Amino acid sequence: MNNRDEMVAIDKEIEEAYINWMINVIKAERAVAGTDNEVDQVLYYTGHPEYVKAEARYEGWSRFFGVAGGHIHSSMDCSTCNRWTYKSGQTQTAFVWLTELSGLTQDDAVAKYGATLCSRCFPEAPVENTKAKLSNDMETGVYKRIQANEQAEKEARQAERETEEAQMDKLAIDAIQDMEAFDRVIVQLAVDELINNVDILMDDKIERFETAGFPTKEIGCNNFGTPTNNKLLWRAERIREAEMGIAEMPWKANLKREAKRLGIEI
Ligand SMILES: [Zn+2]
Repeated sequence: MNNRDEMVAIDKEIEEAYINWMINVIKAERAVAGTDNEVDQVLYYTGHPEYVKAEARYEGWSRFFGVAGGHIHSSMDCSTCNRWTYKSGQTQTAFVWLTELSGLTQDDAVAKYGATLCSRCFPEAPVENTKAKLSNDMETGVYKRIQANEQAEKEARQAERETEEAQMDKLAIDAIQDMEAFDRVIVQLAVDELINNVDILMDDKIERFETAGFPTKEIGCNNFGTPTNNKLLWRAERIREAEMGIAEMPWKANLKREAKRLGIEI
């Protein structure tokens, strides 16, 4: 291939596959950081076949790969770099693919990035061209992508959680047959606890809700020892308390107002 634009274009596509693979490699390594576990090999090799496939288009033109705080290499197989490892405690070298230099000479690389050539990859290079090191910011490209990827995943998880919570809230409120009876129990509980200083036992609490027609057994809130079992009842209480304004300060004024509305004596 003689057309350098094409070399750069192909290398950019291969780089894309490389970065996608690297995102998983770094994730796999981070997942076990500080532990004795082996790196998650499945995650580690996720994206690798796509990268290998993309790389098959490479026809041998000159290439340059930077390493943050290190040197420019002519390939990612340089023996001074740690390319193939999945052992805990070892980190694979994350190369920054300098695709814009593909098809050019080592002098072009020096002109752009300084005297940072790897003496192993470029044995013919004058010693003075191997003295310097690349900046640590070289990682920025790969790590920016990884960070963006992690941020997107975090946001997706957050959105999923919010949807689940909204569904739970709806389920909790839908389970209430008689909203006013339910509210009366909540307000009476609050009056007893906050104004009359009565300690309410869980069993008593459940009994009050059951008496008011809230299907505690059907939706599995008869075991207060296990928090998950009373999640819906707990949610419904919190939602109604918030809506009535008795969960927040100034709770006493709101509580008195609600008690009056529901005909509860204080
Ligand atoms: Zn090298």
